[in-house]
Amino acid sequence: LFFKNTYSPLTSSELIAQERGNMAEDRFGHCVRVSQTSRKLAQLNDYDEDKAALAGFVHDYAKQVPVEEYREVIKTQGFDPDLLVWGRRIWHGMVGTYFIKRDLKITDEEILTAVSRHTTGDTTMTTLDKIVFMADYIEPGRDFPGVEEASAVTYADLDEGVGYQLAHTLDFLIKQRDKIYPRTLDAYNVWSIKNK
Ligand code: GDP
Ligand code: FE
Ligand code: FE
Ligand code: FE
Repeated sequence: LFFKNTYSPLTSSELIAQERGNMAEDRFGHCVRVSQTSRKLAQLNDYDEDKAALAGFVHDYAKQVPVEEYREVIKTQGFDPDLLVWGRRIWHGMVGTYFIKRDLKITDEEILTAVSRHTTGDTTMTTLDKIVFMADYIEPGRDFPGVEEASAVTYADLDEGVGYQLAHTLDFLIKQRDKIYPRTLDAYNVWSIKNK
């Protein structure tokens, strides 16, 4: 694992050590696999592989930051206070970017946007957003029913993969009677609808 220091003043080993120290071992393994899968999807979709690999690596950097720290950051750093009724599942992307800027010193807006959109997707998604969103879903450590089909669809057509993931995530959340974040539904309406 190696990252060029194009997007951060930290060296590759400093970046990796900082991330390793911010999460449990299994979560770190997931981030490494998302990085590798992002690199592969970048290659297939003519995107900068090194940039995709870094974005994939840092996407869950803030997944295990304590809830109290999140609440404080949302209240003091200009985030929408409506976020306070949600939890870390929603926060670690869009608020997680605060910790990535603070600790990993990454300021590239494309990378930060991809992190921000990786859990819910969005109505507008760049190629990098789609790469990280899909790599997170199909990395080789994932084992939910349908992951093989999700992979096949994504490797054949990245946009189809985005539509597939959003439809399946929405279905899963509704079966659990879980709360739908409005952006997840908005994204579904753009990317998953068959008869446009
Ligand atoms: P992870 O961080 O690698 O575990 O994966 P993600 O960041 O993609 O997603 C974290 C969790 O958020 C997943 O279990 C998704 O199903 C869930 N999620 C995505 N959209 C929504 C939503 O609108 N509402 C809720 N409650 N959960 C969501
Ligand atoms: Fe995540
Ligand atoms: Fe995801
Ligand atoms: Fe993830």
